[in-house]
Amino acid sequence: MLKVYNVLNRKKEEFKPVSGNEVKMYACGITASGKAHIGHAYQAVIFDVIRSYLEYIGYDVTYVRNYTDVDDKIIIRARELGVDPRQYAELIMAGIDREFEELGIHPPTVCSRATECVEDMINFIQKLIDGGHAYPTEYGDVYFDVESFPGYGKFSNRLEGEELLSGVRNETEPGKRNDRDFALWKHAGDDEIFWESPWGKGRPGWHIECSTMSMKFLGETLDIHGGGKDLIFPHHENEIAQSEALTGKQFAKYWLHNGLVKVNGQKMSKSLGNGILLEDLLKEFPGDVIKLTLLMNSYRSDINIMDGIFDSNESKIYDIYRLFAKIDRRAEEEGNPESGQQGKDLSERIRREFTEAMDNDFNTAVAVANLFGYYSELQKLLAKNLIGDAVEVKKTLQEVYGVLRLLNSDPSEITDRIKAKYLAKSGVTEKEAADAFEKWLAFKGEKDFASADGIRNGMLEKGIVFVTERGGGAYWDVKIGK
Ligand SMILES: [Zn+2]
Repeated sequence: MLKVYNVLNRKKEEFKPVSGNEVKMYACGITASGKAHIGHAYQAVIFDVIRSYLEYIGYDVTYVRNYTDVDDKIIIRARELGVDPRQYAELIMAGIDREFEELGIHPPTVCSRATECVEDMINFIQKLIDGGHAYPTEYGDVYFDVESFPGYGKFSNRLEGEELLSGVRNETEPGKRNDRDFALWKHAGDDEIFWESPWGKGRPGWHIECSTMSMKFLGETLDIHGGGKDLIFPHHENEIAQSEALTGKQFAKYWLHNGLVKVNGQKMSKSLGNGILLEDLLKEFPGDVIKLTLLMNSYRSDINIMDGIFDSNESKIYDIYRLFAKIDRRAEEEGNPESGQQGKDLSERIRREFTEAMDNDFNTAVAVANLFGYYSELQKLLAKNLIGDAVEVKKTLQEVYGVLRLLNSDPSEITDRIKAKYLAKSGVTEKEAADAFEKWLAFKGEKDFASADGIRNGMLEKGIVFVTERGGGAYWDVKIGK
């Protein structure tokens, strides 16, 4: 039975969608004001995995994620660059789509853009005004009237007064009746992007975008609303207020929030210059390495990206795929033997333990930790020459960890890529490494261990290792990690 931590009630609860087998899920997306960093990737990976696991256990999931493609930050950035804000946002979104695909995140059922739903937002706002929950000002702005919604502040658990104000982003606009009121519609400044509305030229506020888009594609009550925990206040508080003021129904049954990404223990920030762009990570590491790193954490806690963590996980990914490639090779040599009981039992255990971990609020940290244990078991099967069993377990791992979007790359492709990268770093060519390895074997054959060691140590200094296997075989490889 799946249990999820519902931020709405601050506890773990049994997951039961509103309507049978259908899950309607919305996650706040990215504001297209700059390139995607590791924090964006973390959230996208988390909700993609949550969706994927729900599908794995039999739910029919409709998953909507949005892009905020009109926003003050986009306008400011585009102005700095001297480009059109719409074109700028387009460029950013195309880049992020490409990077997410390379990372191996599946696209949501609907990827909705704010600018495509402005008409719906205007209608939403008009209904709020009609219902006495919002008011236009003489300056062409529209505000939500927080006083009109008695439950305001409950979700983020903030007390009346100061605390509620502290999270509001500098909203001191004229015409506001109450400091806590938030903008639903903002009048357009000179030369700013605008849409026509009953209140004059302007653009929607950020909060109304998510309420409108989720309702448009998923209806009045969502099963899951997700986002980063930094969005709890004011964004999600405001989404609840305006949505429930409009419909009189519960907006979302379960609220799920992911933790934040820190780099070497510090919050990522422009002033520290410690941001990690997804684009840069993808140049260096395969998607599996990045996802494995992000999923070693349980999604609700903050994740701390320490120096060298990707390199060390690259070595783990390399080992696993290397083993997979070897199993494939051995299976072919042996004519694809059937699995015996050991392989079947282990497969059964892998599936059971995976479900146990994930049923506990999508605990990917445990699921990933288990994977390293299975890797050792798999090595043992191979050492015992139980090839059919090893193939069975490998397939199970790919099936189960495929739910986390892991281990489904082509083994030789990914190991070749990593190997080539480390060879380039070592400055040794493939031929030089192979020649040195042959010499090492020859010296060992002649029992000239001093010369053999000399060659081996020389190569090791450059990052090439000679490995002797348990069965007596040997091969050369690159040394991975820092
Ligand atoms: Zn949102």
